[in-house]
Amino acid sequence: MTNPSLLILAGDGIGPEVMAEVRKIIDWYGTKRNVTFDVSEGLVGGCAYDAHGTPLTDETMARAQEVDAVLLGAVGGPKYDNLDFSVKPERGLLRLRKEMDLYANLRPAQCFDALADFSSLKKDVVAGLDIMIVRELTSGIYFGEPRGIFEEGNERVGINTQRYTESEIERVARSAFELARRRNNRVCSMEKANVMESGLLWREVVQKVHDEEYPDVELSHMYADAGAMQLCRWPKQFDVIVTDNLFGDLLSDAAAMLTGSLGMLPSASLGAPMANGRPKALYEPVHGSAPDIAGQGKANPIACILSFAMALRYSFDMGSEADRLEKAVEQVLADGLRTADLLGEDGVQPVSTSDMGDAVVAALDASL
Ligand code: NAD
Repeated sequence: MTNPSLLILAGDGIGPEVMAEVRKIIDWYGTKRNVTFDVSEGLVGGCAYDAHGTPLTDETMARAQEVDAVLLGAVGGPKYDNLDFSVKPERGLLRLRKEMDLYANLRPAQCFDALADFSSLKKDVVAGLDIMIVRELTSGIYFGEPRGIFEEGNERVGINTQRYTESEIERVARSAFELARRRNNRVCSMEKANVMESGLLWREVVQKVHDEEYPDVELSHMYADAGAMQLCRWPKQFDVIVTDNLFGDLLSDAAAMLTGSLGMLPSASLGAPMANGRPKALYEPVHGSAPDIAGQGKANPIACILSFAMALRYSFDMGSEADRLEKAVEQVLADGLRTADLLGEDGVQPVSTSDMGDAVVAALDASL
């Protein structure tokens, strides 16, 4: 059997710093669990522009298409702010998402008990929270035509078009139902079927995919505005939420903040199944390159470590190892370790990026 393959694109700013901690964990799996990943590395974002004049070379793009999973750190930084739009660091990431056709964006909102005080909501509302938002990522109003700013009579009109085909809705619905089967078997689909035809079609198609292929999963529908209220009122009522690109953008950011710090949030973007049955996949922390703290050993590596845990679960069929890694993170937090972004309690001294990674490795050791 061939080793699972992983392309690491650490990127810019704190990207390489947080990725160095993931490398420790990958090494741990090799030495302690006898799981050897076939790891290759490449450049993306500003560092790729510096080296090659483009934020993503064709060679790196081709490698991303071949591997079982891509793990990305972060891209961007003030040095690149004045570059032409076509070569900005973010274009490298967008090219990966587009050419890999990563249509399902998974954003977990998970609240570790030790950090429940960080939420702006009451502790009992968020403690133990574990929900997953599946956002459609490659269609909808951010891509629909016509779009633009046009002259109409003696004024201008700004136009964007919400457009979804049945097949686009079907495939993201399947991703959500598949995920629910690995979790608590419940999906809530959110749209605005009361005022938008695209929402009406969304609701019909999700229901049809459910009835024909996933009748064992519990399905409910909710208007997206009501969903936003319910996420703030009692988020634990949800398991998997599936929604379109625009509503998913808003709802996933709101849900993420239920849990506290940006340095804690992982994500996955999945595409169609490859020949081996696993989806094309890109894993990355939600945060950016944090130029304000880059190079200072202050970055929280947990978002990137939890992104790797998602890769274990969704790309490598190693769900129990993903559980082990998430429990190790939980243990380290319960022990009181905090990077600077997680401070708040009196008298707690922050640990460095590297110390946090070492502590997670030690907790992994202790789990054996
Ligand atoms: P950011 O996420 O980089 O930082 C926002 C704030 O959160 C900063 O104060 C930062 O120090 C803090 N922060 C972020 N991640 C942290 C971590 N792991 N540990 C501790 N603190 C952390 O967002 P920004 O400042 O708006 O953007 C900075 C650059 O990153 C820009 O060039 C932007 O385009 C880029 N960006 C990239 C991505 C990506 O690569 N996916 C996402 C967002 C922004």
